[in-house]
Amino acid sequence: MSMHPITRAIRIRADQTAEREHSSPLHLTSSFTFEDAEQMRAAFADETDDNIYSRFSNPTIQEFIDRMCALEGAEAGFATASGMSAVFASFMAHLKAGDHLLSCNAIFGSTHTVITKYLPRYGIDYTYVDAADPRQWEAAIRPNTKMIYIETPTNPGLDIIDLAVVGALAEKHHLIFNVDNCFATPVCQTPMQYGAGLVIHSATKWLDGQGRVLGGIVVGKKELIRDIYLFCRSTGPSLSPFNAWVLSRSLETLDVRMERHASNALYIAQALEEHPKIAKLKYPFLPSHPQHDIARRQMKNGGGILCFELRGGLAAGRKFLDHLQMLSRTANLGDTRSIASHPASTTHAKLTEEERQAVHITPGLIRISVGLEHRDDILGDILQTLDKC
Ligand SMILES: *Cc1c(COP(=O)(O)O)cnc(C)c1O
Repeated sequence: MSMHPITRAIRIRADQTAEREHSSPLHLTSSFTFEDAEQMRAAFADETDDNIYSRFSNPTIQEFIDRMCALEGAEAGFATASGMSAVFASFMAHLKAGDHLLSCNAIFGSTHTVITKYLPRYGIDYTYVDAADPRQWEAAIRPNTKMIYIETPTNPGLDIIDLAVVGALAEKHHLIFNVDNCFATPVCQTPMQYGAGLVIHSATKWLDGQGRVLGGIVVGKKELIRDIYLFCRSTGPSLSPFNAWVLSRSLETLDVRMERHASNALYIAQALEEHPKIAKLKYPFLPSHPQHDIARRQMKNGGGILCFELRGGLAAGRKFLDHLQMLSRTANLGDTRSIASHPASTTHAKLTEEERQAVHITPGLIRISVGLEHRDDILGDILQTLDKC
């Protein structure tokens, strides 16, 4: 029977045990046994798909991978202990000394550190291009460019990158197109449809959606995933079976959760857009967003994140956090509970003023991860704290 991706994300499961449980079993084991020497030999020789050791594969982890492949329209995947280990594995498996990586200045902070601090140590060079203008990127491609790596929407600036434009560019120059799809999630946007060969997630965020476990995954074309699997199998950043079990249960509600996160976010964005304390508010599905047309084309909804610039700058940003009564002050995003963050004094405080400006992190920028509480309670807390900024 042919099924929609969200149905498959609910129905695909690890094999039942003899108990015939309805919910998926948790295969909490580090290794697997064999009937005899021959079965064991064949498994180690890659002649069978038998599980050997949970660093390589495990049925509970495979269930999470298969569900994510169904959602992203991918052939294969590998699940990792965190989003960063998925990002790092995608680089290490596909880049070598002498290669060049094209990326944007507007990317997740730890990814920026890997690209600018660690990859150059191994002879891998990079160029950052302007996220807002992919038509300029072709000029930055060199003979040794191997991969284009992007996020859209970007964190925390919420720029939208045109996936069709970048996908066509990657195809023309035979580059691996690698997309961190964490902010949108696969129920909102599927980059492989635009030519991405690899799609990465921090499962810690919306995929878990309840702030419980760290996890990551990379899915994509079979031949590209094969190299990532071989790298991870030897170096060991694998996801724990317990976290995979938690994450698979979360995928069963991803579509309904994201619809509510996005409708709450749109409601709050509309209510705050003209607020006198706010200089500029950004949300992909507001017509005022600079790449609104692209967002409408490639995203099913505007996602659960919005950001705004307070007129009062750094001091107002800190006051905004101090006076919150309900929203959480925490580093995570993509939770049932709404979260506020002030990047200039926290996640991006180590950057120079110039680096912050390049990624549009102004002193009074506030990022809100909109949760599943009643929308008027979320808005009410933001309005009362704005009064004090
Ligand atoms: C959080 C995040 C990551 C890193 O994921 P971890 O699970 O924290 O390692 C990567 N990319 C984006 C866009 C993120 O928000």
